[in-house]
Amino acid sequence: MGLIVVSNREPYSPVREGHELHWKAAVGGLTAALDPVLRERGGTWVAWGDGEREIRSVELPPGEGRYRLERLPLRESELQDYYYGFSNRALWPMSHYFLNRVRYLGRYWKAYQRVNRRFAEAVLQVHRPGDLVWVHDYQLCLVPRLVREALPEARIGFFWHIPWPSSEVFRTLPWDHEILEGILGADVVGVHVPEYARHFRSCCRIVLGYDNDGHAVQAPGRAVRVESFPIGVEAKAFAELACSSEVRRAAEELRRQVGTPFLLGVDRLDYTKGIPERLEAFAEYLGRHPEAHGKVTLVQIAVPSREQVDAYRQLREQIERLVGRINGTYGQAGWTPVHYITRGLERRELVAHYLAADVMLVTPLRDGLNLVAKEFAAVSERGVLILSEFAGAAAELKEALLVNPYDYDGLARAIGQALSMPEEERRQRLAELKDRLHRFDLSAWTEGFLHALEGAR
Ligand code: UDP
Repeated sequence: MGLIVVSNREPYSPVREGHELHWKAAVGGLTAALDPVLRERGGTWVAWGDGEREIRSVELPPGEGRYRLERLPLRESELQDYYYGFSNRALWPMSHYFLNRVRYLGRYWKAYQRVNRRFAEAVLQVHRPGDLVWVHDYQLCLVPRLVREALPEARIGFFWHIPWPSSEVFRTLPWDHEILEGILGADVVGVHVPEYARHFRSCCRIVLGYDNDGHAVQAPGRAVRVESFPIGVEAKAFAELACSSEVRRAAEELRRQVGTPFLLGVDRLDYTKGIPERLEAFAEYLGRHPEAHGKVTLVQIAVPSREQVDAYRQLREQIERLVGRINGTYGQAGWTPVHYITRGLERRELVAHYLAADVMLVTPLRDGLNLVAKEFAAVSERGVLILSEFAGAAAELKEALLVNPYDYDGLARAIGQALSMPEEERRQRLAELKDRLHRFDLSAWTEGFLHALEGAR
């Protein structure tokens, strides 16, 4: 049975160096998760071809040719309205409960429909009887139904990687019916957390009048299974990398240069990640703990993203002002309280940071899952994970210190608690986290979902 993966982003991007063209692996959780599946099973990946528009198809990974990438060229205007518009100014803020940031424009919706149709057509071109189609994320909600209409017998899975909100919030979307019906073209709908599955099922009941039995939604003539499949990380590969002498040396060097205790934040620069709130809480902590001055340092890595959207540019300015204020208020010769880095790190460097950190602060205001939290726990040998109760990962990572990211006082107290936690307790919590991360790793996730899809009917 062949596999067709469909996602907005492509797993490798073309990069020109002089006359040569290279395909570089994309940074990001989803593509990193699915590349190994297609490497192993073979098949086709359909995605937006970002750059080098005339290349419509390529064998990947470079030089290995294990699967084929079909690249869909999008015009700049399509990209603006489908991706930056409907996906990132409507669905993204709505699903993360940021209703004050949504823009529900008819122009965006039209482009979203058009681009989803083009993705569906690309799937139909490569689909052979018996193939599994696995569509990913909020950019492509209409694809399952469009494929179903053309191929009633197709086996289609859909994975929604961000939070699924309460029906009270979802119903603000003027196209709530169409989005739900689009997704219900699938046989299996996956989300990361049981609560999101419950919300999805109740949206189907309230918006469409489709009942459910606590697992499957009864659409006209078909039952659609809706379940949580929390994504895992390559726990073994991360742990092995953390054992390499190069990474260990880099971690020691970081601790020497930054100083200790070493607090770490690693996020895309996104308003859902709670970076300003985290900085305010750190300032609160410093205000209450003069003995920490000159010692405790926060390294915040914030990788710019979606900079064409105003809200992201404004957030960047807000964070820069806050970092300036904290460093100006508390800094001393030889000690800068916040080290602020806006460059993405490649995996080795990132693992060295995880290994170096005494405390990892993962405090999103809302997050579908959060892979950084899992990666840190898979790598760290003595660190403490402070985790927002509004990150999907909190449903599994119970041994973290769970916090409410809106509560500066509580977060400041959690920083104090983490820094004074006895070594024995830190190790015990990490051991339990690691055990779970190894049992439910990335390949368990892909196998779990594909198994459900294969057995769907
Ligand atoms: N990441 C990275 N380099 C960085 C920062 C992050 O490679 O400098 C990776 C990180 O390892 C993780 C992903 O980006 O796998 C972020 O996934 P997460 O679920 O935490 O957040 P998202 O960006 O998907 O909202």
